[in-house]
Amino acid sequence: MIPTAVEARIPFLDLVSGNVALEDRLVSVLKRALATAGFVGGPVVEEFERAFGAYCGTQYCIGVGSGTDALRFALLAAGVTSGDAVITACNTFIATAEAISQAGAQPAFVDVDENTANIDPAKIQHFLDTECSIDAHGTLRTRMQGLRVKAVVPVHLYGQPADMDPIREIAARYQLEVVEDACQAHGAKYFSRECRQWQQVGSLGRAAAFSFYPGKNLGACGEAGAVTTNDAALGHKVRMLRDHGQEHKYHHRFEGYNGRLDSIQAGFLRVKLEYLDEWNRQRRAHAKWYDEHFSGAAGRVRTIAEPANVYSVYHLYVVRVPERDRLRQYLASRLIETGIHYPVPLHLQEAYRRLGLSVRDFPVAERLASSILSLPMFPGLQAEQQRRVFEAVMSGLTLGQ
Ligand SMILES: *Cc1c(COP(=O)(O)O)cnc(C)c1O
Repeated sequence: MIPTAVEARIPFLDLVSGNVALEDRLVSVLKRALATAGFVGGPVVEEFERAFGAYCGTQYCIGVGSGTDALRFALLAAGVTSGDAVITACNTFIATAEAISQAGAQPAFVDVDENTANIDPAKIQHFLDTECSIDAHGTLRTRMQGLRVKAVVPVHLYGQPADMDPIREIAARYQLEVVEDACQAHGAKYFSRECRQWQQVGSLGRAAAFSFYPGKNLGACGEAGAVTTNDAALGHKVRMLRDHGQEHKYHHRFEGYNGRLDSIQAGFLRVKLEYLDEWNRQRRAHAKWYDEHFSGAAGRVRTIAEPANVYSVYHLYVVRVPERDRLRQYLASRLIETGIHYPVPLHLQEAYRRLGLSVRDFPVAERLASSILSLPMFPGLQAEQQRRVFEAVMSGLTLGQ
């Protein structure tokens, strides 16, 4: 019998090739760490912090243990404390909201823009107008619970910067701190009409949080994160927060955390940072190819819009399709891996039942959650593989008619 040709599996994300290609350089990082026993902190961490700060166009960069640490420390250092409310999008990874809660505050979710899937500035304004008021001391508070509204965390979802001009304008008007969740957007840029220039993600607010979880555009070989900022005092506070609140060894200004970046990961990240722009260019080329092909799909596949004033780095390539779960199963049967980011918006998660939110509170995010599908996207994605993904999506949709 002649064996039928079996198509190879197309991974959602190929984490092996990128690391294997750099194996010699990564191994020498490890050897240097072993030879010097420099495992936590030290010159390798400082070198990466300098390089990544320069890359983001910020004066300060503080390496921390994870993106969640970065968010929590940035919020605490920006002055978020218990009894505060912090505005963020409801369609993000839970870490964004966890960090808000862990800083003692309460997440105040708002809905997103249907075209970009990013937080909608008009809905932030609507939240402030309808659910908040200014008390006798001039403090902006939520009407129901009297929480001080202290900050907004725009999430640059899927690698695409949120619309920062109107967000910063609102934040300035209400004296809110802006802390970027840049965990999916290393290297993305935003053209500020206000400042008439392209600005690097990480430099768009008071502080920004990055994750270097292995699957991110800049990924470690373990857990890692960073805070970037141009604010010296905020940066200093983050440095203390990551290291038990100490300014000098065993002299603690306050209780902090064990949230340091280990030097092996910093060394790996320093090597990989050199490749980030090239990897992002490859991701953008793949996204363009998908965009062009799906634009001919007679409206059955909707893509996420990239506004002219953003440079997205396509951490994920997300489409919206009818009968998403059936299509996803069909793709799986054709050995094509996909993801859903994210299947349940945070306001409908059991973890946030205490907020008393329910179905239809954020209709755009809910519509997105039931129709989004993340297709294979990584720098080394082959033209062959992309074509197979496209053709399988199209034939899967046709079967469903
Ligand atoms: C990955 C991610 C985080 C958390 O990063 P960790 O390093 O896993 O703690 C936070 N927010 C968003 C949007 C993310 O994608």
